[in-house]
Amino acid sequence: MIKNNWTIEEVSEIYHSPLMELMYRAATVHHQHQATGEVQVCTLLSVKTGGCPEDCAYCPQAARYNTGVDAHKLMSYEEVVSTALVAKENGSTRFCMGAAWRNVKDNSDFDKVIDMVKGVNALGLEVCCTLGMLTEQQAQRLKEAGLYAYNHNLDTGEAHYDNIITTRTYKDRLETLDNVEKAGISVCCGGIIGLGETDADRIKLLHTLATREKHPESVPVNALVAVEGTPLAGSQKVDVWEMVRMIATARILMPKAMVRLSAGRNEMSVEQQVLCFMAGANSIFAGEKLLTTPNPDVNEDKAMFEKLGLKPRESFKVEHALAN
Ligand code: SF4
Repeated sequence: MIKNNWTIEEVSEIYHSPLMELMYRAATVHHQHQATGEVQVCTLLSVKTGGCPEDCAYCPQAARYNTGVDAHKLMSYEEVVSTALVAKENGSTRFCMGAAWRNVKDNSDFDKVIDMVKGVNALGLEVCCTLGMLTEQQAQRLKEAGLYAYNHNLDTGEAHYDNIITTRTYKDRLETLDNVEKAGISVCCGGIIGLGETDADRIKLLHTLATREKHPESVPVNALVAVEGTPLAGSQKVDVWEMVRMIATARILMPKAMVRLSAGRNEMSVEQQVLCFMAGANSIFAGEKLLTTPNPDVNEDKAMFEKLGLKPRESFKVEHALAN
């Protein structure tokens, strides 16, 4: 059953259940609600890198931190569409374009992104964007251009948010999610663990996501990649069991969502990734870079899929199912 009236106590009880029991329950929910044996493969491209005015403590692209990120202006249409084509040839079915902006402005750069959305959509890929805060009208324009999903992470629980970001509020974040939803675009929204948050903060984040009127269509679960020069450099590495616990709880709370094993995968062995898949993760990012940090090689992923008997999920699967 899909429910969105979870209480915080229920979420906490699931989150704190013994790990083996939690994994078993998550795997059971996964088998009931998802096609097993398939994993969605997404590519994330930074179309505009660095120089961001925001102060997200984990992010190497914030202009105020000295991280050595090679900042560049908006990529050209040709570069983006040809990268999307290569991603498609390598098995990706979703292509996400990220720009290090605080919010979208109605200017020529946005017009160019609109063209990119059209171009990538024409390749038969599910197009996603992550461009910062968005008005309802801007969301509508993206929808008309063929945008399938919009990523906007809540990052952490509301009580911890001010310790990580001070240049915008949790409410701002939720408003953008509402604008995306109103435009009929799928919501991609998750968080990051390893930001110095408590279990209660993680539980609150999951509770916020799982009690939205409509669960996010995809939920990225990231482990902090601590980058030199950011305030969170030197943070302790996230233990794989914490990722497993987070993923399993997300799977149980939001059975239909694509739960994405996102940043931090580069530091995981194949065995550790298997634990995450068994706990209900069914989506990954492919490609050598995740915005600015390293990601596993495409060929390593292909070998892993072969070994595990996994196949990439086809694009627009939900629409196909509805049409049949
Ligand atoms: S996470 Fe996004 S909004 Fe925050 S500093 Fe990085 S690019 Fe800017």
